[in-house]
Amino acid sequence: MSFRLRMTMLFAGVLGTVIVIIGIAVYLLVSYQLREQLDQVLIETGNRIVASAQVRSIGEVTLVALAENDFSQTIIVQLWNQSGELIKSSDNIRLFPDSIDPMGLYTNQTLFNDIWIQSAHLRVMSMPLLINGKSIGVLQVGTSLTPIDTTQDTLISVLFITMMAAIGIALVLGGLVIRSALKPLVVAKDTAIQISNADDLSRRIPYKDVGEEPDEIGELINAFNQTLGRLEKLFSAQRRFMADVSHELRTPLTVINGNVGLIRRMHHVDEEALASIESEVDRLTRLVGDLLLLAQAESGKIPLDIKAIELDALLLEVYQQLRVLAGERVEVRLADIDQVKVMGDRDRLKQVIINLGANAINYTQNRGQVQIGLCKTKGQAKLLVTDNGPGIPAEDLPHIFERFYRGEKSRTRQNDESSYGLGLSIAYWIVQAHGGRIEVSSKVGEGSSFCVWLPLGNNKDS
Ligand code: ADP
Repeated sequence: MSFRLRMTMLFAGVLGTVIVIIGIAVYLLVSYQLREQLDQVLIETGNRIVASAQVRSIGEVTLVALAENDFSQTIIVQLWNQSGELIKSSDNIRLFPDSIDPMGLYTNQTLFNDIWIQSAHLRVMSMPLLINGKSIGVLQVGTSLTPIDTTQDTLISVLFITMMAAIGIALVLGGLVIRSALKPLVVAKDTAIQISNADDLSRRIPYKDVGEEPDEIGELINAFNQTLGRLEKLFSAQRRFMADVSHELRTPLTVINGNVGLIRRMHHVDEEALASIESEVDRLTRLVGDLLLLAQAESGKIPLDIKAIELDALLLEVYQQLRVLAGERVEVRLADIDQVKVMGDRDRLKQVIINLGANAINYTQNRGQVQIGLCKTKGQAKLLVTDNGPGIPAEDLPHIFERFYRGEKSRTRQNDESSYGLGLSIAYWIVQAHGGRIEVSSKVGEGSSFCVWLPLGNNKDS
């Protein structure tokens, strides 16, 4: 069963139920009111008869004479004495010898009963006749229930027809309304199928918000479009990565292949060719290692050898390496270095500092400056790597920690051995696994500043 049909049936069902409940309430209320009115007429008639009755007592016998009341045709009256003998009855029931309500003949309080006599439906009030607190008989006043029965039957018919008509209208109108409400979803479904068939993630589902705020369907479509956007980015990043990795893998493999061919042709092992093969194998090993590390980090299974580390000592060690890497081209300087202890994996944290420092050196132009510093702030270790390089364009900033993301400069840099767009993502994941975070601020033309926050080690003097 389609969703639309289900919704329409539900809508009509709810409406039908509400109408049935309202119908039953109306029916009961009207019936109660009509009976109340009828009972009132019976009580008034009974009281009028009692008020006009003349009672005489001769010895033990009490005689009751009813005044000649002008009863309407629809009211029937019977007066019974205590011995169950009929004393008087109205003209319209004179030929009927029995009580119109045998159940009420010996009552000592006023009671009302619905009675069927032959094919006549009656409402009968039985009222004890009391003289000086002594019961001398029972007055029974009845009237036909046919008008009320007819009204009730008509009411049931009207309510039934109304309910059926309302359900019919609900089915038709509800179906149309739900169909138009679901139209954007149908369009969304069709577009989603087209997107999937055409493998075209650049398409978006069209939706025009009716009000200022998007409704639920608008929100769903927006969320779907956002997912498409993210998927598109992810796929294009992965495609780019595949192209980059293929390229990066092909170059060393070609070099290795060339050198092996050379050795074979020359029939002797050339030291230079061996060194070249070694260096390319190193490069490949590094790339594969980086990819493995990222895969582990992203699945939350990065193996960490956590120990207490003197971060300042580690920083000084990396500083020496960075100076070698920078050579004469860039000046690497030490800012203030506080004594800071953290709990962490020494090799991994070293990798973070090297990645940030190497980026700073690589992206900074000749005679630029790179500065590294370490302090304790707000109960955390704060490691800062600053450069006065080209800075990172605002549109790149939100993406630089994404895997395989490389800025324009990095992509166009030729013969760069280490640039795979993985360095910052690896740093990000390592810091994250240590319970810290990396922040970056950068201005194009002025430089960049990477700040790593790490929780301090347990040791009090850390
Ligand atoms: P890459 O291997 O390309 O250096 P990273 O993940 O280390 O990859 O860095 C991602 C991108 O961030 C780089 O391609 C570069 O555009 C930008 N970037 C990182 N560090 C700096 C920096 N210090 N100065 C300018 N741009 C930087």
